Amino acid sequence: MKGEVVNVQKGMYHVRSEDGDFFRCLLRGNLLKLEREEKSILAVGDEVLFERLQKDQGIITAIEERRSSLVRKGAGKKGRHLEQVIAANIDQLLVVVAVKDPPYKKSLIERYITSARSSGLDVIIAFNKADLGFSERTIEDSKVYSELGYTVKFTSALTGTGIDELAGLLRKKSTVLTGISGVGKSSLVNALLNCDLAKTGEVSLSTHKGKHTTTSSSVYYLPGGGKLIDVPGTREFAVSDTEGLDEAFDDITELSRDCRFNDCTHTVEPGCAVLKAVEEGRLEKRRLRNYLRIKQYE
Ligand code: GDP
Ligand code: ZN
Repeated sequence: MKGEVVNVQKGMYHVRSEDGDFFRCLLRGNLLKLEREEKSILAVGDEVLFERLQKDQGIITAIEERRSSLVRKGAGKKGRHLEQVIAANIDQLLVVVAVKDPPYKKSLIERYITSARSSGLDVIIAFNKADLGFSERTIEDSKVYSELGYTVKFTSALTGTGIDELAGLLRKKSTVLTGISGVGKSSLVNALLNCDLAKTGEVSLSTHKGKHTTTSSSVYYLPGGGKLIDVPGTREFAVSDTEGLDEAFDDITELSRDCRFNDCTHTVEPGCAVLKAVEEGRLEKRRLRNYLRIKQYE
């Protein structure tokens, strides 16, 4: 049978079959050996072949090649470079922030963007809690992101503003949901599953929803075949990854071509085109500060 991994728990994988049934699966011997060597070879979203053993139990016999993956990079034990796959076969990253309560940090948004871009994912930024009201500055911030090519939506899980539009963006896509605690991620998921679009389609929830939310991911199936993957501790994957930085800040990259020095750090150098742009009001000072803040993680 064919299926996809919806939950990973210490050597036990929850797999959703093409028919939408859930199975608790172990790995076949050869894969198990691989698993022991590489720690974890399967992530949420991985497509697998499995044999049904009994009732809701099965054994995974093969793993399909990944179309994409979102990885968390970091230093492992003894300074070893560590790369952990957070989710496989995904299209986009939905970054949820709140217009206030808690206030958003642009530096964090940009780190999420950087991670997403280096994994080749599209980015949607939802400014949630729009019902609380927001400042001109927030609108300006949102414009910067949409001008960079990311999709920006103002939403309210409370009043339903922007929910249908957001649902439209998630349709037929595999999306990883991220954002710090308290911004309204769970509320948005609930709103998305109850919106008009959801009512017209088949909605099925992973049976594991909410059960292991602190240790493992939850997968929500949206109408039209789309799914939303809620990964715990996603904050971590937003750091120490600068590969996509130049792309996320392509305005600064563009400006820096005119800097006098090739290795200009855009901090103190004479003839710095980036600093000049800030001086002349063509580039937001805060944006440069965020860029430099992220750069120091390199
Ligand atoms: P999570 O930690 O990101 O999953 O956030 P929750 O969904 O648990 O929401 C955190 C708090 O914010 C709860 O008290 C929600 O009722 C509230 N909240 C969520 N979305 C909205 C919204 O759009 N507007 C307002 N005013 N409050 C919201
Ligand atoms: Zn410069």
